[in-house]
Amino acid sequence: MRPPICAICRKDFREDPKTGGRVRFKLSPEERAFNDRMKANRMVGHPKGLEWFCSKHLEIAEQYKQLSWAEARPKIIEDSENTDVI
Ligand SMILES: [Zn+2]
Repeated sequence: MRPPICAICRKDFREDPKTGGRVRFKLSPEERAFNDRMKANRMVGHPKGLEWFCSKHLEIAEQYKQLSWAEARPKIIEDSENTDVI
């Protein structure tokens, strides 16, 4: 498990994890295979498609969770810039 650091602005909210949250994005076939492999081998790590967001970016990120992280990321960044939250 990765510490709570925003995937967009890198804000570290470890001291107060409740100010942000995680979003589970749609998995690409490669990401799904990676997660299955990790599970099968009982590996510890951060599963693909699961990202942390600070309070500013969480709401925007939620809107794109039907996309894969690779597709969603540029859209979240674009929306953040448009709404001037960075
Ligand atoms: Zn952020």
